[in-house]
Amino acid sequence: MKAAVFNDIGKPLSFENVQDPEPKDGEVLLKVLGTGLCHGDVHIIMGDWLGDISIKSPLILGHEIVGEVIKGGERVKEGDVVAVYNAFGCGKCKACLKGYPQYCEKVKVLGVEQNGGFAQYVVIPSEENLFKIRGNPLEIVPLADAGVTAYNSVKGIEKGDKVAIIGTGAVSMLGIQILKTRGAEVTVVGRNRIKLNKMSELGADEVVESKGNYITDLSAKTENNKFDYVIDYVGNDQSLMDSMWLLSRLGELRIVGEFGGTLNVHEQLLVLRGLNVRGILYGSKNDMADVISLYYNGKIKTLVVPYSLQEINQAIDDMIEERIIGRAVIIPP
Ligand SMILES: [Zn+2]
Ligand SMILES: [Zn+2]
Repeated sequence: MKAAVFNDIGKPLSFENVQDPEPKDGEVLLKVLGTGLCHGDVHIIMGDWLGDISIKSPLILGHEIVGEVIKGGERVKEGDVVAVYNAFGCGKCKACLKGYPQYCEKVKVLGVEQNGGFAQYVVIPSEENLFKIRGNPLEIVPLADAGVTAYNSVKGIEKGDKVAIIGTGAVSMLGIQILKTRGAEVTVVGRNRIKLNKMSELGADEVVESKGNYITDLSAKTENNKFDYVIDYVGNDQSLMDSMWLLSRLGELRIVGEFGGTLNVHEQLLVLRGLNVRGILYGSKNDMADVISLYYNGKIKTLVVPYSLQEINQAIDDMIEERIIGRAVIIPP
């Protein structure tokens, strides 16, 4: 089959003929219909990950996958079109039992620990993680990663809450749409005017264009204006610096982006104001079901920008250069 293979840090993916994958007993084989390109893929290519993630190349990346079942199991049959909930945990540990297998010590993610969706076919370890879908499959792709993460990142936020969003990528564009279904009041800060205009179109009450120092630029525009939640979809030094100062008493900072910044907080700020900080990685299977139904009910749009598998390195450049408004979805031949 044709695949885009990651061989070396900092190099373009290579478009290659590789051996067709063979599903074992209990596994499912999918013909890939579309796989989203995520900043997570770019972090792998650039060698940005520290700590918990170690990547063994050669590896087929791509973790946001929709496909058609070629070899099924009990629940999914040949011809079904499915989206992949992409965190395969041990099923027994605390994290798995709580419904958050992405935090399992033994988690496998397709496109990270084993071959993913930037290829014609992909093997799925268990059919339990597959969601049957209907409608245009490409439009559903961004829900499988960006959508699940966005849904989890705004959980518990209600009507009347004041929220600041940092960043204007695909997750944040889904996040704002979900927040608006809840009646939250949302201010967005970002660096890209075109993407900020899109955020206004999607319901932002206020947008602030930043030169890169997000927090200073945001507080300059919103004097005496504190937020119940700050959701950081960037996670670099500029976005994290001083972001706790934007919070109202009892407020919460949620960090979603993975750009590797450092959060420095004076402890008295946390203690005296009762502030919280949480990291958000992906979400639960229930989050995936919920975000798919929001889409079917017409509450959210997924903003797909299609590229062929051969064009994947162009898509990566476009993502890095911030030319993609929404989600690039890679379509194999
Ligand atoms: Zn991702
Ligand atoms: Zn586990």
